[in-house]
Amino acid sequence: MVDVCLPGTGGMLPLVRRYLTCCWVEVMGKAILIDCGEGTQMALSAAECHVSRMECLLITHFHADHISGLPGLMLTLGNQGKTTPLVIAGPAGIGRVVSSLLVIAQKLPFEIIIKELDQKSPEKFEIAGLEINTLPLKHKVPCLGYNITYHRKPVFNPQKAAALNIPVTYYKNLHAGETVEIDGNIYTPDMVLDGERKPIKVTYCTDTRPFDGMVDFAEGSNLFVCEGMYCDDQMREKMNEKHHMLFSDAANIAQKANVPELWLTHFSPALTHPAEYKDDVCKIFANTVITRDGIKKTIVPDDNI
Ligand SMILES: [Zn+2]
Ligand SMILES: [Zn+2]
Repeated sequence: MVDVCLPGTGGMLPLVRRYLTCCWVEVMGKAILIDCGEGTQMALSAAECHVSRMECLLITHFHADHISGLPGLMLTLGNQGKTTPLVIAGPAGIGRVVSSLLVIAQKLPFEIIIKELDQKSPEKFEIAGLEINTLPLKHKVPCLGYNITYHRKPVFNPQKAAALNIPVTYYKNLHAGETVEIDGNIYTPDMVLDGERKPIKVTYCTDTRPFDGMVDFAEGSNLFVCEGMYCDDQMREKMNEKHHMLFSDAANIAQKANVPELWLTHFSPALTHPAEYKDDVCKIFANTVITRDGIKKTIVPDDNI
């Protein structure tokens, strides 16, 4: 199971009733947070995301609405007694930006491991047992889209294991992909496993103007979280020039990528009731959700795949 939450859904500045956009992804008690604008620690608390489970913070870019909440969140993690390392990854320069922000949050009781990511080509790496892929977006400053993939273990077939007289105590090892030796006999995982299961993937893209590469990046996702700064199609030229997207831009990408569900986020502060535009955007992509702060979803795997 993969738990996803958007504690905040606003762009540019935090509002009284709308925190800044960020995304929480949690699998088996380990969590990754994407973006940390001003007030994000309050958004996380309101959404009941347990920050003690955070293993990694992914930053999309260095605009204040995506990173200025960092010192406060780090201090809170420290006050809560975190001692295990935290990975902070983001575009090149993330080390310099993090150290500058942390001038006001020194002597943290945990190690921060900085991971600088390529801002020109996609990258793939692993954190907390999850695969992370990046996509350089088209914003005013270097900006990365992320997808987080949870690769589920293949199906274990106990009948096959029993037929080979493998003691039950070794089932866990074989299911985890380990080869075991019992009384001089070698048993490999393929002898007791029944094939791969479909991974669970969540894609997050903000801030950017729309482009074709986003379609490939979102393809195969169980959930596509994407910027929708404004809803009025007459603003398209102006918005795309500013390297942002309209609801319809995101819906077109979701439709081409054939994802099951689109969550719109990063609304302009001028957009006070984004949900009013749901019908229009659903004409392009039916399963569009105009999100609100604290929206949550548990992606449950279909055990037949
Ligand atoms: Zn932004
Ligand atoms: Zn931005």
